[in-house]
Amino acid sequence: MYDNWEALKTECMQCRKCGLCETRTNLVFGVGNENAEVLFVGEGPGENEDLQGEPFVGRGGQLLDKFLTAVDLDRKKNIYIANIVKCRPPQNRDPKPEEQDACIDWLREQTRLMRPKIIVCLGRISAQKLISPDFKVTKQHGEFIEKGGILFMGTFHPAALLRNPLQKPDALEDFLALKKKIKEVCQRTY
Ligand code: SF4
Repeated sequence: MYDNWEALKTECMQCRKCGLCETRTNLVFGVGNENAEVLFVGEGPGENEDLQGEPFVGRGGQLLDKFLTAVDLDRKKNIYIANIVKCRPPQNRDPKPEEQDACIDWLREQTRLMRPKIIVCLGRISAQKLISPDFKVTKQHGEFIEKGGILFMGTFHPAALLRNPLQKPDALEDFLALKKKIKEVCQRTY
């Protein structure tokens, strides 16, 4: 247990708890406002993220930023973004269950320090790890589920939207529902 972000980040940046440490360029700890009430969680860094050390910075990240802007959210101001695993799986394969299990404590500590009201899971891997192992994004996206005093919502991964642009209107609906929910449950002004 860590009592501040600096200590947590310092320790995490040296992590070698799973094999993904062998092939990473940079560990991608997370980015955003540590006092925000909304936490976004993706599955893991891709090539650009690994090179730059920041989550969602490639084409998928640019698309995510467009959706965020549409609902007055901004990774530099009022949200935090992290991933289930903090080091890039080779060739962008799905992180293995044992890699997710090895890494999840870092995210748990981030969540404990941040105390978000809402967690948005970006894509299947994140939603299945944090909401329910049988979560189906195409069926359950946009639904808010309360667990342990936090509202969880799963939506499409930006990379999936780049592959299947027909799902973009559904994703926008999810972000609009998120905006409404933020107004209901978040105390600070968004
Ligand atoms: S993926 Fe997570 S558990 Fe594995 S080495 Fe990186 S930080 Fe550590």
